[in-house]
Formats: sequence, C-alpha cells, structure tokens
Amino acid sequence: MPAKIQVLPLHVSQVIAAGEVVERPASVVKELMENAMDAGSTQVIVDLGGGGIQFIRVRDDGEGIEPEEVSSALQRHATSKIRKAEDLFAIETYGFRGEALPSIASVSKMTIQTRVRHSMSGTRVLCEGGEIRSIDEVGCPVGTEVEVRDIFFNIPVKRRFLKSIRAELHHGLNHFLRLSLASPRVAFKFIHDGRVLHDFFGAESPHIRLEAIFGKEIYDDLRDFSFEEGEITISGFASLPSISRRSADGIYLYVNQRFVRDRMVHKAIVEAYRHVIPTGRFPVVILNIKVPPYAVDVNVHPTKAEVKFRDPERIFQAVYGAVHSLNEPNGLAHPATPPEEDRTIPGDFKQTPPAHFSAVLPSAQLSFRTGSEAVFSVVRDPSVLKEDVEEKARVRILGQIQGTYLIGEAEEGLILIDQHAAHERILFERYKRQYETHSVPMVQFLIPIVLELTAEDSFLLSSYLEEFHSTGFEIDQVGERDYALRSAPSLIPEKDLKEIVQEILREVSSLRKKGREGQILHSILISLACHSAIRANFALRGEEIEELIRNLSVYSLSATCPHGRPIFYVLSLDELAKQFKRR
Ligand code: ADP
Ligand code: MG
Repeated sequence: MPAKIQVLPLHVSQVIAAGEVVERPASVVKELMENAMDAGSTQVIVDLGGGGIQFIRVRDDGEGIEPEEVSSALQRHATSKIRKAEDLFAIETYGFRGEALPSIASVSKMTIQTRVRHSMSGTRVLCEGGEIRSIDEVGCPVGTEVEVRDIFFNIPVKRRFLKSIRAELHHGLNHFLRLSLASPRVAFKFIHDGRVLHDFFGAESPHIRLEAIFGKEIYDDLRDFSFEEGEITISGFASLPSISRRSADGIYLYVNQRFVRDRMVHKAIVEAYRHVIPTGRFPVVILNIKVPPYAVDVNVHPTKAEVKFRDPERIFQAVYGAVHSLNEPNGLAHPATPPEEDRTIPGDFKQTPPAHFSAVLPSAQLSFRTGSEAVFSVVRDPSVLKEDVEEKARVRILGQIQGTYLIGEAEEGLILIDQHAAHERILFERYKRQYETHSVPMVQFLIPIVLELTAEDSFLLSSYLEEFHSTGFEIDQVGERDYALRSAPSLIPEKDLKEIVQEILREVSSLRKKGREGQILHSILISLACHSAIRANFALRGEEIEELIRNLSVYSLSATCPHGRPIFYVLSLDELAKQFKRR
C-alpha cells in the first residue's frame, strides 16, 4: 500500500503557494507595480487586456535586472531586498518575500524583458507555468517590462472563477490608484484594451495627484492635517462633512507608504467623524502613518495587505487625534471664508499647516433670512454669500409634523428637520464653547440635591469631580457614597438632574472600560445637550422655530446631532417627480 502521506510534486506545491499571492489578475498588477516602485522608477505604465485576464503588462524605467540574475528573480524566496532575518524588521521596500515573480510565473505565461543602465543590451526570459523556456539577449530600453498572459491557464478551476472583465478591471484599477496615490513623484499611466484610462504625470506635490484621482469636487473638500508624536507621524487629507460615502472605500490608509487595511485605524477614523457625518456613512480620508520600520511588522499577511503595530493603542490615539483635530465641532460652528490655497507650492504632506474645519464651510450652507415666516437659504458655494445667491436658493418653513419634524420648501425639494437632533447639536456646540471659556451658566440650589450612589458610581464620581465641575456641576462628597449637588447647568430641568448624573456615570464607566478616558468630557457635553434639547412631540411656536432655524444656519445639510443622527433630510424634486410618475 502506498504511503498515505507524500510530499507533493514541485509544480503542485508551487501552484498552492502561488494561490496565496495571486488571487486574481489585480494581484499581478499590484505585485508588478510594487516591483517597479522598488526599482526606483520614475515612470510606470500599466497595460491590461480584457481586465487583465488576457494580459497584464507593466513597464518601468527603473534599475533593471542584471542578465545573470534574471533567472534568480524567478526562483522562490529570491530577493534583492533583504539578506538576513533581522532585515525583516527594517523593511523599506514594498517587496521582501521573493515570492511574487515565481508565483505569478507558475500560473501564467510570463515574459520579462529588462536592461540595466550600464549594459548595452537587455535580457528576455520566456516562462510558462513556472518553467523557463528561453533566455535571450535583446535590445530594449533601460528598465523592466513584465508581461503576464493567460493567467491561470494551467488551473482551469481558478480561471473559471474569474469575474467579469469589468470586475477584474475594477480591482486592477484600485491597486493602480492606491499605488499612484502613494507616490505622486512618479508618473503613472493605465491603459485598458488600448484606451488610456489614467495618465498621471510625476509631480512634486501630492495635491496635483489627489485632484487627478479624486476629481476637483472632492479635492476641493479635502483638508490636510499632520500630527507628530515621538516617532509616529500621521499626515494626510480628510474630507469635510459635506462629503460622505456609503462605503468605506474612500479611506486610504498607508503605513510607511504601503497601502494596508487595518480595522483599528479604520475605527479611529470613523470615530473621529462620529458627530459630523451620519452614522453608516464614511468620509474620504487619505492617511499616512510613518513609524520606524521596527515599530511595525509588515510580514503578517501573504500579500502584505495587513500590518501589525507594536503599540496599536498609541496609533489609535494618534490617528483619532489627528483626524479629530480637523473635526472639532467648534470649527463647524464658526465658519469663515476658506483661505486661498496655493496649490502650486511644491511640498510633501507635512508642509502645509493643518487647515481646520473652522477655516472652511461645508459646501452646502444654510443661512438665515429674516421675515415674518421662517425663511433660510441654502448657499451652495461657500465663497459667495451674496444676496442674489440667497434669493435663488432659499428654504421656507411650512410647518411642523407630529410635533417632531419641521418641514420646509427649498429649491431642491422638500427639507425635513429633526427638531430634537437639530437643537441637540446647537446646544452641544454652545455647551462646548461655554465649557472652553469657563462660562457655563449655572443655577445654585438653596438646598443641595443629595445623591446617594452605589459604591462603583461613588468611586467614579469622586475620580471625575473635576470634569463635572468644569461642565457646571458643583458637587461635594459628604459621605462615603453621598454627594451634595450644589449647582448645575441652568438649562437642565431640575427634575432630570439625578438621572443625568447617573447617565453620565454610566457613560464614564463604559468609556473607561474601552480605554477612552479622553472622551469623557465630550460625552458629558453630549448628555447635557441631549437633556436640555427640545424633545420630539413638542409643538413649537413660530418664534421658536425661527430661533432654531437661525441657529441652524451654519450647518451643512449633512450635519448630524452629537450622537451621529442626521439633522436634515432632503427629498429632491426629482424624487418627488419620480414618486408621482411624472418622469
Ligand atoms: P521581492 O519583490 O519580494 O523581492 P519578487 O519576486 O517580486 O520578490 O522579485 C524578485 C526580485 O526580482 C526582486 O527582489 C528584484 O531584485 C527583481 N525585480 C523584480 N521586478 C523588478 C523590476 N521591475 N525592476 C528591477 N528588478 C526587479
Ligand atoms: Mg516584489
């Protein structure tokens, strides 16, 4: 009887290994482009046929490969990028595993044509299913061109599983964009079935690349930020709240230039936008994390799509801090005209001083017009706040439904406003300002309100008395678990006070458990806003509506309440026409 356990024939194990690196044509695009970048190229051309299923060709003007080394490049674990195991902890190149070329070669028909600068001629290698068929001396330009045809020709199952040309092209383009975003100095071109889809020239400044990739509209709503803490540098671009997307694919995360996915960093970004865009929507963020190579392990994933930080919590805080600094609610509350940005100034991500949201307006801005009926206007272009613009685009409040929503008419259709969410947001900003200027209006009680707390709550309250105090609560400990509340923020109804203190303590406890003590003050301000805001099911008088609308005038249509619920809902005229089958 033959032995049950046998060593696999070489070609089988090669194909198995290849599966880890080469998932689909797009993986080839990524690996070949990365090699081109590692070779110090200034120009990279990616050319695909049939979404890459037919062929993928990547040509660069990098350092090339020496004639006698071309065949080594095709061997497994052959790399010029690291020499010893320690080097793994100091990686500054995209590649280091020496797996891409052999893996791709084993599942396709590959041609490599390459020439180093000091040589008069180049080398061409033909390879099929991992077997080298020929090596010839040829005339060719300096640099390397790798062509990969008929991917998975020898693994029919995999070939059958390829998606449509469009889907494969889409994946390929994603890798192309991620890599070209990371290296604005390099020129990139993307050709599909003979048509040039992208042509980026090499530019000194990342701004030009950003605009080329995202388009002017999104680019205009991106603000740069940078943040340094010890050896961690966080920099990049983040969208204003006026932009939000249904999916998270506008979030580009780079760690030392490498595009990666990281759940924790992703969370930090989403968290930083929590009160500015609706929950379930995502910003556009290009985030570069620079850490010394030893502070991050890039060798944890076969396609290097994930990394492991030595100190994840510190990274989380740094990312949150950097992005959140742009999203300071205060910034939104005090809009100003955007400064003229000089886009032609060359510089890297860090050179421009961090712009704050306070310096710019969300693209759709509401501004109030006086009148007997509540009327406010929507200004699309923040730089022009002229009367004639207001004339064109105004919103007229028509009434209130269910004592809960305000309803208005605007140029683009019907606008609904959640009065509680709106008021909550306004109060939150107000409390925040008052807190910052130590001017929270307080009422003093002649007879202090006595709070009897559980042991845990008592411990929490005694640890955070300072925070309570700075937000308008004057509380003294009078017994082991007894406290006297002597004064409180004046907007909070007295009957709610005990409840709100309890609620804050519950929140404090949960934040502590998550290691987010930094957000405690923020959450106290949210609780205050929530408790003093007008509730749903509350009929408002005309002047009250007017007042609310006036205060809302600085918010964008995508603004949310401090808990992340939207304030506005716009039913477009188009939508209405569709509903009534007029279109
Ligand atoms: P890795 O990138 O992990 O080193 P690869 O299999 O991708 O492994 O490539 C193997 C080697 O071939 C590289 O280390 C490099 O020396 C060489 N090489 C591959 N592509 C290029 C290129 N476009 N230009 C110059 N050298 C290249
Ligand atoms: Mg490589």
